[in-house]
Order: sequence, then structure tokens, then C-alpha cells
Amino acid sequence: MNARILTATPVVEKTKIDLKERCLALKNRGITPAMSVVLVGHNPASLSYIRNKKKICEEVGAKFTLEQYPSEISEKEFLGHIDRLNKDPGTHGIIIQLPVSPQLRNLNLPDLVVPEKDIDGFHSQNTQSLYEGSADLKLLLPCTPKGVIKLLQFYNVPISGQNVVVVGRSLIVGKPLSMLFTNLNATVTLTHSKTRDLREFTKNADIVVSAIGIAHLLDETYFDKKRKTVVIDVGMNTFDGKLVGDCSRERLLSTVEAISPVPGGVGPMTVVSLIENLIVATEGQLKGIK
Ligand code: NDP
Repeated sequence: MNARILTATPVVEKTKIDLKERCLALKNRGITPAMSVVLVGHNPASLSYIRNKKKICEEVGAKFTLEQYPSEISEKEFLGHIDRLNKDPGTHGIIIQLPVSPQLRNLNLPDLVVPEKDIDGFHSQNTQSLYEGSADLKLLLPCTPKGVIKLLQFYNVPISGQNVVVVGRSLIVGKPLSMLFTNLNATVTLTHSKTRDLREFTKNADIVVSAIGIAHLLDETYFDKKRKTVVIDVGMNTFDGKLVGDCSRERLLSTVEAISPVPGGVGPMTVVSLIENLIVATEGQLKGIK
């Protein structure tokens, strides 16, 4: 039997309905949720990600502003813009689009945006809740991990007590996701490029999440058909001019229980989770000024 394909579309549509309602409720109280994306330079990939964010943001009724600065902007000037946005009561969510220019890379970027407007969920105060054991998806958590969990929950994939293997230990995906799974009572193995015999782990997993960045790395030799593994493919790689994941989907269809597609899986879940964070942030700021 072929694997179930865990597409994001129904989850995104359902989430958008909820976010539209919450956005309207905020507008009825005189507040239009508003996010600003700070972009340094003209990276084409960044501009494409930003277009996706703008689209969903406006679809739910929130306001979107792109603040674009030249790649040679000084550190002082850049910090001045972030400070202005941090203090602006009409801005509820701020994103610093990565990558930034080399002269800004020594800054502690995750902590520049005040925690209550940190809709990327990277501020140390926001990630601290993960270390402390929270599994509350209503907090400002990093968007890709949040999107992965929302996708699994929508498709009723059990997490508690399951053996989960996360491949990749980046600060934006693998590490926070492994903590979120731990907080949801999964038994988690966090693997990476120095892991000896990755197959030994993936073959014994109930859920495998790949956040590697290598096209088609995980094929049928990484899975045991008897295990009925659910695979979530976070990877976004270009192969033969096409967007593909870390998993060789066609070769996994008869080996795994379910798999998320690329495109159309974790990517859209990440964007909608970001817009959800904007609504959460705005609701939080409204409570703060009551
Ligand atoms: P990073 O490059 O920061 O991390 C990649 C991780 O993969 C590292 O931990 C690395 O190990 C590990 N790795 C590399 N090669 C192997 C290997 N052969 N076996 C096992 N592990 C390996 O990437 P990101 O986390 O930022 O992104 C990962 C992928 O996810 C990319 O394709 C990216 O485009 C995509 N992505 C998609 C998002 C979405 O919304 N869908 C959001 C964010 C990322 P080590 O630490 O030892 O170097």
C-alpha cells in the first residue's frame, strides 16, 4: 500500500479560518495586527520567502510592511531601525530576514527584537520555555518546529511515547524541535552529520524528521517497512531546477506509513505558524496594555 501524503493544505486552510476570526476580533477592539520584515540587501530567495509571508498575512487581515535596507547599512543604522520598530506601538511582530550582510553577523540577532514582538520565536526568553518543558503551541515558538507538530497533530499521528529521530541539529529546526517532541513525551534521538550509522536510528523510529539540506539523502534503505514510520521532510533543496526535500519520496512510498511532501508540506506550515505567532503576539500586547 502507498504511504499517506501529509499535505499542508487542509491544515493551513483550517488555521487561516481561526486566524481570520482572531484578527477580526482584534480589529473590533481597534488593533490591526501588523508585522514588519527587515531585509538587508536583495537576496532573491529571501524575497521569495517574504512574498509567501506577505500573502498569508494579508489573507488573514493583518498588515504587512517590508523594510528593505542596502546591504552596506552600518551596524548603528541597522540597530536604530530595530529599536524604532521595537518601540512602535503599531508594530506587533518583527522579523529580521536571514541572511544579513557580513558586517551585521556579530550582532546577537535573535535577541535584538523584544521578546513580545519576536514572532520568529528565536529570542532566548522565548526559547527558554522549551528548555523549561513547555509544549504549549500558543507561545511564541520557532515556526518550523511548531509547524511540524501542528502537521502531525492534524493527521492524528501519536507523539507521546513514540520513538522520534530528528536528523539535523540547527538552532532554527532540529534543536528546538527535539525539545518540543521531548516536552510532548516522545523519546527523542537528535542525529547529525557525525552520527555513526544513521540507518540504525531511522530504522527503529516511529517518526523521522529530516532537516538536513541534502536532496534525496533518505531513501528506502533508511527505513524498515515493518516499523510503519511517519516521515516529515523539512528539507528545501534545489535539484534539477526543482524544489525537493531531503527524502526520496517516490522511493519511500511503499516503505513508510506516511510522508510530508516537498513542496506543500512543512514550508506552508512554517509560514502559517509565523502568522499565528503574529496574532499570538498582538493578543499578548493587547493584554499588556489593558
Ligand atoms: P543547517 O545547515 O543549519 O543544518 C543541517 C543539519 O543537518 C546539521 O545539523 C548537519 O549536521 C546535519 N547534516 C548534514 N549532513 C548530514 C548527514 N549526511 N547526515 C545527517 N545529518 C546531516 O540547516 P537548517 O536546519 O537551517 O535547514 C535544513 C534544511 O531544512 C534545509 O534544506 C533548509 O532549506 C530546510 N528548511 C526548511 C524550512 C521550511 O520551512 N520548510 C525552514 C528551515 C529550513 P552538523 O550539525 O553535524 O553539521
